[in-house]
Amino acid sequence: MTKKLPPGLRPETLAIRTAIEPSQYGENSETLYLTTSFVQPDAATSAERFASGQGYTYARTSNPTVTSFEQRLAALEGAEAAIGASSGMGAILMMIMGLLKAGDHVVLSRSMFGSTLNLFAKEFGKFGVETSFCSQTDVDEWRAAVRPNTKLLFAETPTNPLTEVCDIAALAEIAHKAGALLAVDNAFATPILQRPLSLGADIVMHSGTKFLDGQGRVMAGALCASQQLVTEKFAPVVRTAGMVLSPFNAWVVLKGMETLGVRMRAHCANTLAIALWLEAQPQVARVYYPGLPSHPQHALAMRQQGGLGGGVVAFELAGDTPEAARAKAFHVLDSCELLTLATNLGDTKTIISHPATTSHGRLTEVQRQACGISQGVIRLAVGLEHPEDIQDDLLRGLRGLTSA
Ligand SMILES: *Cc1c(COP(=O)(O)O)cnc(C)c1O
Repeated sequence: MTKKLPPGLRPETLAIRTAIEPSQYGENSETLYLTTSFVQPDAATSAERFASGQGYTYARTSNPTVTSFEQRLAALEGAEAAIGASSGMGAILMMIMGLLKAGDHVVLSRSMFGSTLNLFAKEFGKFGVETSFCSQTDVDEWRAAVRPNTKLLFAETPTNPLTEVCDIAALAEIAHKAGALLAVDNAFATPILQRPLSLGADIVMHSGTKFLDGQGRVMAGALCASQQLVTEKFAPVVRTAGMVLSPFNAWVVLKGMETLGVRMRAHCANTLAIALWLEAQPQVARVYYPGLPSHPQHALAMRQQGGLGGGVVAFELAGDTPEAARAKAFHVLDSCELLTLATNLGDTKTIISHPATTSHGRLTEVQRQACGISQGVIRLAVGLEHPEDIQDDLLRGLRGLTSA
């Protein structure tokens, strides 16, 4: 039921054209099939569909709009298949339930998304899944962390908020030597910047809530992998556990993906301009952005991300004490008249946030220092407004601060 397309199409085209076949009405924009159940033509077909899981029966198993979303994302990631989930975290839950059991071991980067760390260490620690944490950037730590019972390595690159980059190809080699799989959270980079499967990863995990939608409207998630992993490991979990992607959310993100390429390039251009500008501001002590030559993994990032730095930049305001640094950061946040104070990213609207008291607020000060997220760090998820308007808004707060 996939729409027939000529071979050899490029990602920009696949993002717009990949979908299931249109209905008998020949609609040009993909239909939103807002239905939970599907009328069966006869009892034998119904029995066969229920037995095989093929064909449409009930929306917890599949829905045509969700199928279009899955086909389009798989095409962009260069994957054989993809499977939708209710959110990015729902996708990770599906991956854990599909691949791991008590006694299995997982290696994660210490700098991963906070909820990801909690889901593995806290929630699945209760069920006997063991987790080790490694440096984002030191490949030797990953190699040393692998054990005979290691089943999965899971990385995220670049990380939130300090944009640390890990070497996907090197981690894939470590995983495969150990007979384990490598999964990569590609929410920050998107397939426009990096396609982890082409670098050796086995699974790509997405939060569609971020750049894929791109306008901060709905929650969505997905896993991209081989047809075998999707059919045998992941689809049965969604069908029984129910972290299913809603057809409406799938439709919103499906249409969002059509503009992913132009949006990502514009996000990256805006973010680079602002990162360079921030580096020139006397009040700013340090800027974290993979597109800057000052970034410790700049060369790796440019190689791995197609020469683009991404849509997130962090910067640090120095203070004599953590309290003083926090006061400076709060002053900049509260002086903004344009930027949004929120905790999302990948939106057309620029979002400013203070990681130490929000996304990383549950860590102790010592843990935060260990991962470099001081009280003076501000994260910008740069949107598509004019970059000079974003700079002018930041200046409202920076202007009153002493130099670093
Ligand atoms: C937001 C995010 C997630 C979780 O996705 P949700 O859709 O919010 O569940 C996972 N990883 C990264 C890198 C994210 O930014």
